[in-house]
Amino acid sequence: MPREHRPPEEWRFTNALMRQAILAIGEVMGERGLKVVLRQAGLARYVDELPPNDLEQGVVTTEYATLNQAVEEFYGRAGKGMLQRIGRATFRYGVEEQGTLMGVAGTALKLMPQKTRIKFILTQMAKSLMEVNDETDIAVQETPEGFVFTDYTCGVCCCREADRPICYLYIGSISEAVKWAAGQDYEVREIECRAMGADACRFLVVEST
Ligand SMILES: [Zn+2]
Repeated sequence: MPREHRPPEEWRFTNALMRQAILAIGEVMGERGLKVVLRQAGLARYVDELPPNDLEQGVVTTEYATLNQAVEEFYGRAGKGMLQRIGRATFRYGVEEQGTLMGVAGTALKLMPQKTRIKFILTQMAKSLMEVNDETDIAVQETPEGFVFTDYTCGVCCCREADRPICYLYIGSISEAVKWAAGQDYEVREIECRAMGADACRFLVVEST
């Protein structure tokens, strides 16, 4: 069951996660591209100084959404793929931050069946995102089609409207997480998006045949 939330305009976002997103954008787009999209998103204050690497809720979530939108608009049709690459990079930064824990988990995972590995990483991802922000509300379910990762408080599309799912960065992060845990690529599809009026963004990890 979803928790009660404040209106999305008031949602707050964790400094360290914004920092990882900005580092990932720099990695994929280069410094010059990063500067352009930060300015475009009204976030010029991060050009010279990244958000601190701490767990304070120092960012307004709509700023994170606007940053995603700025990258998408910068690239046009290629935006989707670029944002997925950026999402993959953010997951790798996350692994570096929690190096020891992830190293131990990674070794243990190698002995487990694929399905268990995928379930482990999705559950772990949901848990750590909810730990750093009291308001974040994520559920992981197993369905006949595959695992579904449901975020009722998705920041990528916060206060945005669209006629198609737009949380490409999130698709990238989940794809990279699953690849890390399972040792191979799985298809991740966003099957519902808050920007289209859904109550949550839902990501299906498609079972391989
Ligand atoms: Zn979303």
